[in-house]
Amino acid sequence: MDQIVADKISQPLANTKKVFVKTYGCQMNVYDSQRMTDALSESGYQSTDTVEDADLVLINTCHIREKAAEKVYSQLGRLRKLKEERALQGKEMMVGVAGCVAQAEGAEIARRAPVVDVIIGPTTYHRLPDAIARARNGERVIETDYAVEDKFEYLPQINREKTLARGVSAFLTVQEGCDKFCTFCVVPYTRGSEVSRPLAQLVEEAKKLVDAGVREVTLLGQNVNAWHGHGPKGEAWGLGDLLYHLSDMPGIERLRYTTSHPRDMDEMLINAHRDLRKLMPYLHLPVQSGSDRILKAMNRRHTAVEYIALIEKIRAVRPDIALSGDFITGFPGETDADFEDTLKLIETVGYASAFSFKYSARPGTPGAEMKDHVPESVKAERLERLQALLMTQQTAFQHSLVGQTVEVLVEKPGRFDNQMVGRSPWLLPVIIDAKDTRIGAIITARITKAGSNSLHAEIA
Ligand code: SAM
Ligand code: SF4
Repeated sequence: MDQIVADKISQPLANTKKVFVKTYGCQMNVYDSQRMTDALSESGYQSTDTVEDADLVLINTCHIREKAAEKVYSQLGRLRKLKEERALQGKEMMVGVAGCVAQAEGAEIARRAPVVDVIIGPTTYHRLPDAIARARNGERVIETDYAVEDKFEYLPQINREKTLARGVSAFLTVQEGCDKFCTFCVVPYTRGSEVSRPLAQLVEEAKKLVDAGVREVTLLGQNVNAWHGHGPKGEAWGLGDLLYHLSDMPGIERLRYTTSHPRDMDEMLINAHRDLRKLMPYLHLPVQSGSDRILKAMNRRHTAVEYIALIEKIRAVRPDIALSGDFITGFPGETDADFEDTLKLIETVGYASAFSFKYSARPGTPGAEMKDHVPESVKAERLERLQALLMTQQTAFQHSLVGQTVEVLVEKPGRFDNQMVGRSPWLLPVIIDAKDTRIGAIITARITKAGSNSLHAEIA
């Protein structure tokens, strides 16, 4: 029912301009793209999925690894051709680059890619409609200063119709930026220092999401568990308090948060996993390496033993919690012995899923200046071994769910007529043999089969 309403509303209106948004990178970029799309819709831009139809193409970029950043320039090469073709037809096509590459390499983009009309960083994207208007008047706009104002105060309110069309599971950014300065990471430079959004703003946005039909809210932050603010009586609050508070909000049925730093997992947050039925038993807690020497060189500020002790503490209060992590192979100076320590840590912890990457030297970070860079072939070989181990654990975890009865949040129709797709408590998609199940319902289903990246289930 909700879906039908959404489809009607998303019909293009006559004379509106169209924007095509391409998003790279993390969930925070997905959230930012949604907010930029909403802001542009107030200036008359309707979303399109077809780049050839677009009057404005916006690329929201990621700078975390070299490969991600390089994609932007190849994409801009293709857009240059498209813009030329459009010009021959007497049509306008503007190009904007947003996100972390815009922030880190604004001047370089302007030099290398004359096709770009607007370059806008992650802290200033509330100025995008204005920037587009200025660019349409012939100005080449580069907005990469860190904003002093709070962009969330300037962005339009969450749009009900658009939220409805995006589904029953939504992101809510609660914190941005990072003060941790891990030596491999660009985030503190591209996203700036840590800023937590105030409680009242978050509650208001969460209510808007619920009003639009959202049942599951994932709180986002580059370092989400560093969120801090004040409770209703002015008392100091951390992410744990925020979760208890949001868990009382009628309409929210499920809560998640990502990405966390092990140093910021405090008692309150761990207890939230014990107490809150709505907080899903899934935690993404990156460790990066299992070697204390490398953890120190990375400036992670904890040891492998401290990380394992933390996991034990969390599992003691929530034994069914599924753990996920991030790993980097071939950080400068990483020896075979250091790498073996990482494999040992993985074996000790046991992950349900994980993300792993070869170290990528990022300009301006301390890691890039370090000695003893590891050859690419060694990074790749270690990554392969690490991923093989993680895959074994992931497969074992998924197979351990077969036969279990679990609650599934129904999200959308499946590929085949008699199927719906939902989400398990552990984030894994679940394909359910059930035709008429309402989107947004939480149903009880029995897992019948584990696929490579999804589960199959029947109504219990
Ligand atoms: N804040 C999170 C934390 O502390 O773990 C991580 C956020 S970062 C955007 C996502 C992941 O990208 C990191 O956990 C790390 O594994 C990976 N990453 C960051 N910089 C990297 C680099 N220079 N090379 C390879 N992987 C990198
Ligand atoms: Fe980057 Fe995360 Fe470290 Fe911050 S805590 S510098 S976001 S890896």
